[in-house]
Amino acid sequence: MTGRDFVFGVSGFRARTGESFTAANLVRFGNAFARLVKQRGGRVVSIARDTRLSGEAALGALASALMLNGLDAVDFGIAPTPAALYAASHFEMDGSLTITASHNPAEWNGIEFAMERGRLLNASERRLLEAWFRNPPRTFAPWNETGSLRVEEGAAEAHIERVLSLQSVDAEAVRRRALRVVVDAGNGAGSIVSPTLMRRLGCETTELYCEPNGIFPRNPEPTEGSLDALKAAVKEHGADIGIAHDPDADRTTLIDETGAFVPEEYTFALTADVLLKERRGPIVTTVVTGALLDETAQKHDVPILRTPVGVGHVVEKMAETSAAVGGESTGGVVLPQVHLTTDGVAAAAVIASGLASRGGTLSDWVNEWGRYVLVKRKVRLTTRAPDVNRLAEAMSWAQEASAETTDGLKLTWEDGSWVSVRPSGTEPVMRVFAESRDAARAQELLNRAADAVSRLLL
Ligand code: MG
Repeated sequence: MTGRDFVFGVSGFRARTGESFTAANLVRFGNAFARLVKQRGGRVVSIARDTRLSGEAALGALASALMLNGLDAVDFGIAPTPAALYAASHFEMDGSLTITASHNPAEWNGIEFAMERGRLLNASERRLLEAWFRNPPRTFAPWNETGSLRVEEGAAEAHIERVLSLQSVDAEAVRRRALRVVVDAGNGAGSIVSPTLMRRLGCETTELYCEPNGIFPRNPEPTEGSLDALKAAVKEHGADIGIAHDPDADRTTLIDETGAFVPEEYTFALTADVLLKERRGPIVTTVVTGALLDETAQKHDVPILRTPVGVGHVVEKMAETSAAVGGESTGGVVLPQVHLTTDGVAAAAVIASGLASRGGTLSDWVNEWGRYVLVKRKVRLTTRAPDVNRLAEAMSWAQEASAETTDGLKLTWEDGSWVSVRPSGTEPVMRVFAESRDAARAQELLNRAADAVSRLLL
């Protein structure tokens, strides 16, 4: 279900406030989700939100729908998505709603849905939710079975304590090294967790944009072009590491001690490098994660398994295979010891601890991997997304590449270079990714594939 300002996909529902993020749509999702929870015998649903200004209004609409369906609602308040989902497990919730549009701009908001103990929805549950959103069920409770609403303030603290208790988090080593960090939460939900966690871990912590006020002072997606203030702060404070989150803090991007941007996939590779020393098992990731993770799997002699894009697919495969770690090319990392969801807060703590334990600088650590150039582009969808067969026809210039269709079309050449074209699950765009050891070749593959997609959409 995709429109100009409305997306329902693997990550849930997202829309623009002032357009499709309306009380009516929120109530419809609330009713549909209530039916799903009740069908599984559930009674209690938590609701958390990031710092977006429309979050409190959405809490009201969702809580109302849940209660009138006979469910009890528990308000976790502002919390990063990973803290909300961990807390849903800790406090034994039957369902969990997180009001966030992740890294989308401030005018967007949305809902991420999870079932019992913060488990992300599987494909059949997503289909039911969409069907009941389109055709609202009549499942309202009788007058004497209306649910209640209560506040639970301990979600963030429960998450912090769990992360600090991880075997891979060594506060003693961090304290000995007196690691210096700068945290840039972009005024999102990470503001209320990450600086506290870093201090309790023993880091000398400087806060940048850690006001949980929902006014995003930079591009909320922590990409290379949006972190100039963090780069400057790292240099000014002589910090060992700069940590940037998106608004719901399920992602972390790093700045090294020289003030240089560390590409997002290293967040995943570095976290995996630490976790795999403690516990062996497969790495699970998506088709668009690059060779950095293949190299990490080789180094630790564990298998690497690839799924379609979307954390729901990654965590399902992780549960099936007892994976040691999972993640996405955006730098979202899943630490199964905490919870099966991407967790930028836990990843930051594991990396800080790993850096303190191994010694040296962050750039030394990053340089242990080969250099790959991953380039990305979005092509705006003006019509329906083209299917795989049409994509393959449009890219028939790539005869010598091997094709894979786990998600959209991925073409891989013998030298390891690859290009992937697929419809986004969160925005009305086609995403084009290309990777090569050679920057010019990566760019050429990206250009050719993006041109082919653009021509299909004419
Ligand atoms: Mg996010």
